[in-house]
Amino acid sequence: MDDCIFCKIIKKEIPSDIIYEDEYVLAFKDRNPIAPVHILIIPKKHIAMISDLDEGDEKIAGRLIMTGKKIAQNLAISHKGYKLLFRVGKGGGQEVMHIHLHLIGGARLYEEIRPIS
Ligand code: AMP
Ligand code: ZN
Repeated sequence: MDDCIFCKIIKKEIPSDIIYEDEYVLAFKDRNPIAPVHILIIPKKHIAMISDLDEGDEKIAGRLIMTGKKIAQNLAISHKGYKLLFRVGKGGGQEVMHIHLHLIGGARLYEEIRPIS
């Protein structure tokens, strides 16, 4: 996707602070962190949102979560707990339309929920 900011990060056309990369996923630091640890894990395949996943994307979906778990272990935040978050679509608060799993930790985390307007 030519106009997708996360596809540009995958292609290294725009800079990012990469934490992990393999054939399926890329993980990098969120540029506006809401906690001491705030990392985005994205599939290398452009898929706009979780609701667009196909049956054949199971490996990708699993790899996103496993990567979140492993990075949390590597950063030694597993024992305290952390949040793995997918926002789905505008109503779910998703702003970048390329699937991304937020790994958020290192702080006490609360959820803000507001009605969809
Ligand atoms: P969401 O609201 O779930 O779509 O979250 C999008 C996230 O992407 C936000 O937390 C942004 O701070 C983050 N973000 C947007 N552009 C970039 C970028 N170029 N590098 C790193 N993080 C980004
Ligand atoms: Zn994309």
